[in-house]
Parts: sequence; structure tokens; C-alpha cells
Amino acid sequence: MQIADGVHSFGQTKGGRVHAYLFEHGNELTLVDTLFDADAAVVLEGIRAIGRSPSDLEHIALTHAHRSHLGGLATLKRLSGAVVYAHEWEADIIAGERLAQPVSMRPSGSLATYPMRIGLALGLPKHAPCPVDRGLREGDQVGPLRVVAIPGHTPGHLAFHWEQGGVLAVGDAVATWPRIDAGWPGFNLNEGQYRASLKRLAQIEAEVIAVGHGEPLRYRASDHIHALAEGSS
Ligand SMILES: [Zn+2]
Ligand SMILES: [Zn+2]
Repeated sequence: MQIADGVHSFGQTKGGRVHAYLFEHGNELTLVDTLFDADAAVVLEGIRAIGRSPSDLEHIALTHAHRSHLGGLATLKRLSGAVVYAHEWEADIIAGERLAQPVSMRPSGSLATYPMRIGLALGLPKHAPCPVDRGLREGDQVGPLRVVAIPGHTPGHLAFHWEQGGVLAVGDAVATWPRIDAGWPGFNLNEGQYRASLKRLAQIEAEVIAVGHGEPLRYRASDHIHALAEGSS
């Protein structure tokens, strides 16, 4: 589904209604996150549906190293040869050298998110490991996207801003499934950092907010972030 000019949203039910986003920039394709399934079928189908081929994929940028967002990475890397980017804190998890940190099992938030919580606790199901080619920091550029560091959900969590198109991909900093919320309650490794990051996101004007779980926010999306950031102070 096209959510802005040259920006496409791909989603699947598994992994908590996880979503990934494809940005067209001239002939170059940049993908943010890779959905849950290891065969990357939904992403590949989406690329073909817009008349492009996997070899057009130049950049794969990851918001953070949680299983739901890494599933298709190894397959997409193999088929496209794209450069894989992530924050250096997340890179060894993506490469399969370290497990993601478990989150609190204290009851909070929707029961619908518990399978992902248990998955993090057990380190299961594993993703197919894939080395990260380049580390990213605040202010770096990936294709048309500017990198915004938003630690809290994980230490190396990144957002990606396409200023020209008014699109901000925020990963798990904001969720719209099971409801619009400041991420999933109980999933942030550092709440203080997270709240500061949400305030940071609220300062970026964007018409569309591309979230990690649930459908993207498509109209005056920054208003939602402002409301969530005020609610978290
Ligand atoms: Zn996450
Ligand atoms: Zn997630």
C-alpha cells in the first residue's frame, strides 16, 4: 500500500501486525525493517507489485534488533546484495552473536503483545542471522532518509526521517496495534530514555508516521506524537 508519494507499507499479521516500509528515491529502493517471515515473501511481492526487482534494493535499514523486524533480512540481503545498516549497539544481535535483552514480564499492556514478550524472554523463535555492513548514528543518511537516534525501547533504536516527503519511520517508539500508544507498555528497556526520545520525535513535523506494529498514521500524524509525548511526561 502506498502511504505517501513513493513510500510503501508492507504488513503481516505475525510478529504483532508488524510493518516494514519501502522508499523509492530515483531508481534506488531503501527498505526500513524486514517483517517477521524468513522468506521475506511479503516484501518481495511488494517490490514486484510496484514494477521493481529485488536487485533494485540498495539499502536495508533496521530500526532495532527485535525478532519481528529481522525475519526477512538474511533472505533480502542474499537476493539483493543491499547494504545493511543498524546502530552498532544492535549489530551483534542482528548478526546472531548475542540475544536481545528480555523485557519485564510484569503484567502491563495488552495480552495480545504477550507472545512477543515471551519470545524475547526465551530468545525464540530465532531469526536467520545477517551481518550489519554499516553502523548508523544520529544525523547519518541512508538513501533519502536521515537517521534520528531514539534510544529507550532498545539502546540502539533508530528512527528514519524523509523530510521531503513528510514521512517519519519510528519503529517501536509508537504502535497503532492493538491501539495507538507510546509503544507497547512494558517493552521499553529504559523508560527515561524512551520518554526523552518520544519528546524528540514530537519536535519533528511529519504528515505520515510509519510505525513498527499496526497501520501507519497517515494524516496530521505529528498530532498523535505530540499527544503521546505530553501524556508521557
Ligand atoms: Zn521492538
Ligand atoms: Zn517490534
